[in-house]
Amino acid sequence: MKRIGVLTSGGDSPGMNAAIRAVVRKAIFHDVEVYGVRYGYAGLISNDIHKLEVGDVGDIIHRGGTMLYTARCEEFKTPEGQQTAVDNLKKCGIEGLVVVGGDGSFRGAEALTARGFPTIGVPGTIDNDVPGTDYTIGFDTALNTVINAIDKIRDTATSHERTYVIEVMGRDAGDLALWSGLADGAETILIPEQPHDIHEVVERLLRGHRRGKKHSIIIVAEGVGSGVDFGNKIQEETGLETRVTVLGHIQRGGSPTGFDRVLASRLAAKAVELLLAGEAGKMVGIVNNELVDQPIDAALKLKHEVDYTMYKLSQELSI
Ligand code: ADP
Repeated sequence: MKRIGVLTSGGDSPGMNAAIRAVVRKAIFHDVEVYGVRYGYAGLISNDIHKLEVGDVGDIIHRGGTMLYTARCEEFKTPEGQQTAVDNLKKCGIEGLVVVGGDGSFRGAEALTARGFPTIGVPGTIDNDVPGTDYTIGFDTALNTVINAIDKIRDTATSHERTYVIEVMGRDAGDLALWSGLADGAETILIPEQPHDIHEVVERLLRGHRRGKKHSIIIVAEGVGSGVDFGNKIQEETGLETRVTVLGHIQRGGSPTGFDRVLASRLAAKAVELLLAGEAGKMVGIVNNELVDQPIDAALKLKHEVDYTMYKLSQELSI
């Protein structure tokens, strides 16, 4: 293989730039040329493909977002769209592709491989919801962003003696809510993977209030539903002054943490190694701090699970 491509797809996440940098540098280290595809799969269809040199990925390792931009592309889900993508890649002389993105992007990678175009997936999403890896690129940065935000909200919660409901991202996964809740000593953490009883939440709040607790922090994962609706309900049922903060897209941006930069560099370099070894249709991941790889179709048949022991611990520590 003498020429490969790289793209970022789906939701952006901090560390994607570090992954692009690692793909480019690792490939060039092995005398392989690299082309960057802008706007994810949309750029494959519109032929927005450009050569990247060593210097083009300088000064990006610490930046959030993605220098290649990202997009969602419905056209790529069609057989015609996928064929155009493969044709454009071949016209550029590109022989393999690294896709950095979430599980949706991995399905796209799978589709390219099925059309005979070798593609390797690198998990990048703040949601940490990709099976086959303990961590995805961006999760740690988003977690720390959430923790910083909650620390600030906690100051006001304490000063005003209020209940705060904080809605965090994560799509259908509760990882971001669970980790940030545990890290911030939240009183209640609601995640989609665990059914909750509103009466129990109310009872817990009132019990704390009777005990003289001055404030409460409740974390609601977006996959559970609207934090605003939940906050209204809590205020109605408890009579306690309740405020809601929806953290929103601040969770997706920012300079990646050291953990995410290292993770992105390791995973992306591994993806290049696999392509150069003639592998295709695989995803890379990290399990117990070891780099691993497995077929994307097998990984996507698995279900991402939150760590239930952590959920139990969060309950034990917030009595
Ligand atoms: P993420 O990768 O963050 O999960 P999406 O689910 O939006 O984000 O997927 C990103 C893109 O991947 C989609 O816009 C589409 O172009 C492509 N994609 C998603 N699912 C498929 C599929 N089943 N087949 C082909 N391409 C897909």
